[in-house]
Amino acid sequence: PKLKKVCIVGSGNWGSAIAKIVGNNALRLTNFDDRVTMYVYEEIINGKKLTEIINETHENVKYLPGHKLPPNVVAIPDVVDAAKDADILIFVVPHQFIRTLCSTLLGKIKPTAIALSLIKGFDRAEGGGIDLISHIITRHLRIPCSVLMGANLAGEVADENFCETTIGCRDTKQGPLLRDIIQTDYFRVVVVDDEDTVEICGALKNIVACGAGFVDGMALGDNTKAAVIRLGLMEMIKFVDVFYPGGKLSTFFESCGVADLITTCYGGRNRKVSEAFVRTGKSIKELEDEMLNGQKLQGPFTAEEVNYMLKNKGMEDKFPLFTAIHKICTGQKPASEFIDCIKHHPEHM
Ligand code: NAD
Ligand code: 13P
Ligand code: CA
Repeated sequence: PKLKKVCIVGSGNWGSAIAKIVGNNALRLTNFDDRVTMYVYEEIINGKKLTEIINETHENVKYLPGHKLPPNVVAIPDVVDAAKDADILIFVVPHQFIRTLCSTLLGKIKPTAIALSLIKGFDRAEGGGIDLISHIITRHLRIPCSVLMGANLAGEVADENFCETTIGCRDTKQGPLLRDIIQTDYFRVVVVDDEDTVEICGALKNIVACGAGFVDGMALGDNTKAAVIRLGLMEMIKFVDVFYPGGKLSTFFESCGVADLITTCYGGRNRKVSEAFVRTGKSIKELEDEMLNGQKLQGPFTAEEVNYMLKNKGMEDKFPLFTAIHKICTGQKPASEFIDCIKHHPEHM
């Protein structure tokens, strides 16, 4: 049988960490082509193209400095060139770029390709709702799209510290194939069929992480932070129940659920920037540019997409934590009112 070719669409912090894993697995596994392509959004670093730096030094010096990528991972600045021969497309870009990428790729990929989205976030749908990123990929490119979400801070994964992740995949043939290209002895995969819930967990926990950051910024302590995390979890469960019924409660106990909430609310970028937002009074956008060196925040943007839908459906007060976080991020409410907004949470009635 022909060797499976893999393309990684994206090369940020997480994109680069996953490229290290996928590159090593493609080399090791005999049913995968050794060569893995990686689409790199081109930029110039100290007068040199990032793709050239990656292909010469095997290090993404901007987004994952200090870690070597295997030399069989090839950086390519043109997404069509990178993706055209791939049997498996791994999407891992900040969610605001996915629509443009899909329109560039339309009609240029193998019709038999399958996709795996590592993107945590939503997009806005026509008619006042939200769209899941995997659904956008499937609709625009006409290929099936599974998802991978978990408690996976990129730097720690690149350090090869033990962790788990969740793949949401309904197809019983594709699930094992996707697991093979992702799993290592330190990065353990559980495959579940509850695709949408897995993806929604990954998107919504970034909103909760902003709340955890506000708590840290106001130095309210660990009990308050735990309460925010728990109320966040309850709103995540309610969100799936109301808007994507049929999901399983057990999915929230996978790595994509509680575990990712915990890691992001302690070690993530959304938490860090949200803490600084409270302490400095600067805008989220300013802090993102100042603190993250080109990496992108997903939480505030996801809070906005979710609020757009909750507002349209008259359901803001059913999700007071998500609603308050959006209003604080956009300056419609001061962070000091955060706790007032969740003191009389529906969970307490
Ligand atoms: P990142 O935050 O490092 O974002 C920067 C990337 O965006 C760079 O590759 C940059 O070149 C690219 N970019 C900038 N402008 C662009 C444009 N106009 N078009 C296309 N690309 C552009 O990215 P990341 O950390 O790899 O995150 C990707 C996804 O993975 C996000 O949804 C994130 O939530 C998720 N994720 C991240 C982590 C993590 O620890 N970093 C862990 C798990 C999941
Ligand atoms: P941040 O984007 O907040 O850093 O979260 C990363 C993540 O998704 C860890 O699983
Ligand atoms: Ca191989």
